[in-house]
Amino acid sequence: MLKFFIQTYGCQANVADSQAIANFLVNLDCEQVFTENQADLILINTCAIRDKAEQKIYSYIGRLAKLQKQNSLLKIIIVGCIASYKKQEFYSRFNFITFVNGAREDKNILRDKLIEVVMLSQSSKNVLDIDLKFGGIKQEKKHSTQAFVNIMTGCNNFCTYCIVPFTRGREVSYSSQEILEKIKQDIILGAKEIVLLGQNVNSYKCPKSNINFASLLEAVAELDGEFWIRFVSPHPKDMTLDVIKIMAKYPDKICAFMHLPLQSGSNKILELMNRGYNTEKYLEQVGWVKEYLPHATISTDIIVGFPGETEKDFQDTIDIIKKIKFDNIFSFIFSPRKFTKAILMQDDLSYDQKQARLDFLQKLQVDISRENNEKYLGKILKCLVEKEAVNGMLLARSSGNHTVLFNGNIELIDSFVNINIDKVSATNLVGSLIK
Ligand code: SF4
Repeated sequence: MLKFFIQTYGCQANVADSQAIANFLVNLDCEQVFTENQADLILINTCAIRDKAEQKIYSYIGRLAKLQKQNSLLKIIIVGCIASYKKQEFYSRFNFITFVNGAREDKNILRDKLIEVVMLSQSSKNVLDIDLKFGGIKQEKKHSTQAFVNIMTGCNNFCTYCIVPFTRGREVSYSSQEILEKIKQDIILGAKEIVLLGQNVNSYKCPKSNINFASLLEAVAELDGEFWIRFVSPHPKDMTLDVIKIMAKYPDKICAFMHLPLQSGSNKILELMNRGYNTEKYLEQVGWVKEYLPHATISTDIIVGFPGETEKDFQDTIDIIKKIKFDNIFSFIFSPRKFTKAILMQDDLSYDQKQARLDFLQKLQVDISRENNEKYLGKILKCLVEKEAVNGMLLARSSGNHTVLFNGNIELIDSFVNINIDKVSATNLVGSLIK
């Protein structure tokens, strides 16, 4: 039996792709293992979003050379975003790599290569019918019952800092009928959380009908079963009130959580980023969320130190953060990426200045997150139990995407529980199980 290991970097689109590959291989009678040195096949799903991440991946691959020396039959396959534009560099820099397949290449090429690798090592009769584009639930019992489902791929937005349109190609929406069929199967297999994925889910448009994102979301919520739905990422450029209204209509199914990437609180910087909205429009959308989903949590992404960002622009970002009081912020220093327009923009700030801004922002957010979390003290939250936490407690997630820790039996993993919140910090809620 061929044993495979998958190392996934980057966003949930990559997680979904890795899940699809894992499902495919499991159905070819392969076994997923969780350390590299047990594996006959190692797949690395790469992320190109920031230079630091890219360098980290190169050093990881470099370290695999040793394993390859010990086991000349070991196959190493590189997929994902970096593989889209550095295929030749991978082959020449790491001559032990078996195969490279970029995120925007035809998935059938990868499928055929995987079949070839498996056939060389074992005789499998299952040559399957799993579609590598969708992702979906992991089929191994050990894993959580989150199903990441791609509803589209690629992006047409060309934000000036972002490499994704170059690595994943132009936006393509998948058929709503196929998506719904896939989700139905995932629910039958035990999925408790469906995560709809796209670079810009609000611009979803079924190629075979007039179903848009709001109607797709409603169609998923109408499916039978006890499960939650999340989606990432909506884009403020295309966010519409009808999506929020659908969320409010199905509070038991659609999680009260909105990740709405702001990127900057300065209209000048938003324009330089080619984001297609201004802070006024963004604040209007946050107003919708607060009106229709008063208990929802809101998180965002912020880039600090974009070329041309003055102290005043940064202060505008700080002001909007204080105004909205996000529950969570994913914040990063601007990372110049190949092919993008921003790489050519004049950038006068030193790295230390950018780091100082990032530190300031992150410190502020810790205080805001802690203050927001205090609202949950003494409240009972319905949570989905995901796994054991490192401290021996169980880790669950609330509808608002809080990490919730509690003491309980591992048999509770993958089930919904009610937890009374006893303690909070900026990053976690801690509680006790309501029996
Ligand atoms: S919307 Fe902008 S940031 Fe998001 S993937 Fe597309 S180009 Fe990148």
